[in-house]
Amino acid sequence: MDRVAKLKLLTRAAQYDLCAACGTQASRVRDEIGQWLYPALLPDGKRVTLLKVLQSNLCENNCLYCGNRRSRDVERSAFSPEELAAAFDELVRRNRAQGLFLSSAVWDSTSRTMEQMIATVELVRFKYQFRGYIHLKLLPGCEKAVVERAVQIADRVSVNLEAPNAERLQKLSGDKHFTQDLLQPLQSAKQFHTEGVGAKAGLTTQFVVGAAGESDLEILGTVAWLYQEYHLTRAYFSAFQRIPDTPLENLPATPPLREHRLYQSDFLLRHYGFSLQDLTFDPKGYLRTDVDPKMAWALRHPEYFPVEVNRASREQLLRIPGIGPRSAARILRARREKTLRDLEDLSALGIVSKRAAPFILLNGRRPPQQLALW
Ligand code: SF4
Repeated sequence: MDRVAKLKLLTRAAQYDLCAACGTQASRVRDEIGQWLYPALLPDGKRVTLLKVLQSNLCENNCLYCGNRRSRDVERSAFSPEELAAAFDELVRRNRAQGLFLSSAVWDSTSRTMEQMIATVELVRFKYQFRGYIHLKLLPGCEKAVVERAVQIADRVSVNLEAPNAERLQKLSGDKHFTQDLLQPLQSAKQFHTEGVGAKAGLTTQFVVGAAGESDLEILGTVAWLYQEYHLTRAYFSAFQRIPDTPLENLPATPPLREHRLYQSDFLLRHYGFSLQDLTFDPKGYLRTDVDPKMAWALRHPEYFPVEVNRASREQLLRIPGIGPRSAARILRARREKTLRDLEDLSALGIVSKRAAPFILLNGRRPPQQLALW
């Protein structure tokens, strides 16, 4: 198989991995030689195009949900480090890609596949002198020495947990051990990160949502724990999609709204000072779908409102529906200059004032819309 054919095959096979903060399939662009490239938002807010590719889609494992599983009859191939590094360098020189996301199936063993991936990144860094963004996936069961090298040469590393705990993972894969194979590499990456060894853009993970019967509470409980104990930078959620010729091909696909609510909750945990206890779950452990998680908290806590926008702390402002970290900062700045008196003052700051209206006081008075809504 020639290099272009391999690029087509192994970039298509990488589509289920979300940890590169890439856009959806629809937002991908196909260049004139047929390679798949992804727009992505980097941790520093810069927008770049990533080559997102697998070293190999040959896999010795047989995870139930996966399109690259051993038993599935699909075309297979693998890049040598030299081939892949040269292909990426060509894209960079033609200004088609500004970053690399490298993952892989587990070829004949984790150590051999990781060796190939590390060799690829070393060539990209040292032979081709690429200084841009590289996200490197750590495969299940990856050795500590390999993790150390990975965090030295990549900007970001990730381990896909796929499930929130060992019991749920068993329903998805008989090949991976939750603690030894997945948490252990995360633990090593955290240790090197804490010691200041590379990977400045941090550590991420991904969950397949809805394939193992897990609840939102189980997923977010694990996410909150990972933020605290493993210094995880962020988590990604991938709503389960049926893939033909896999054992889960008849399982219903997970509605995108469930994935969306998980992302909203995760955002509250990372940027709004919310804890797991602040999120509202039904008796089975699922988030509300009729309102977003922040509105659910506000409706559950009428005693907290109304909040006087002219005196509230940043933490209090962040509890008001319609006010996020940026708009809270704008309010705090604007308050130094003047008193905020009506909803127009808030709209002028880019705030969704209709949403905030039922929960606030402006200079001691309820906004007119609030009376109507209450
Ligand atoms: S290890 Fe599992 S999830 Fe990863 S490529 Fe192989 S079958 Fe797919």
